[in-house]
Amino acid sequence: MEQTLVILKPSCVERGLIGEVINRIQRKGIIITGMKMMQLDEKILREHYAHLVDRPFFPELCASMMASPVVCLVLKGINVVEVFRAMTGATNGRKAAPGTLRGDFCMSGQANIVHASDSPENAKVEIARFFKPEEVLDYTPRDLSFLYADD
Ligand code: UDP
Repeated sequence: MEQTLVILKPSCVERGLIGEVINRIQRKGIIITGMKMMQLDEKILREHYAHLVDRPFFPELCASMMASPVVCLVLKGINVVEVFRAMTGATNGRKAAPGTLRGDFCMSGQANIVHASDSPENAKVEIARFFKPEEVLDYTPRDLSFLYADD
């Protein structure tokens, strides 16, 4: 079982889409093991988006990520990093495929509804950045073997 870090961005929170995204996560059979609301600041965003700090859009990106509280989630499932990235869609909402979160709910390349870790290694680092160990409540639903049965 893998874990991933998801952030429901201000573009999701402000537009009342928290329930919609969580609904999709649960209907898919992905397990939520951590969930909390946070107000992000520049310090944590400089760490989280370290690969983007030198890009011209970084100040705007920070402002858009601090525009309201966000909801941080830890998700668990088989190959959940790849599965949830597929559900998220391409970075730019105008290019993201219909059926994906970004493809269905946004028209922006920046205010694009969700963040999702892009590798299992980064997921570990990102979960530790946003959650204390005791805030991740690892558990296994009873019908998991049915939910995850292979051919
Ligand atoms: N972003 C932006 N302009 C760009 C590229 C990215 O504002 O030209 C923002 C956007 O919100 C994106 C985030 O920076 O989700 C992180 O970018 P990354 O390339 O890591 O894409 P992601 O993994 O979120 O699809």
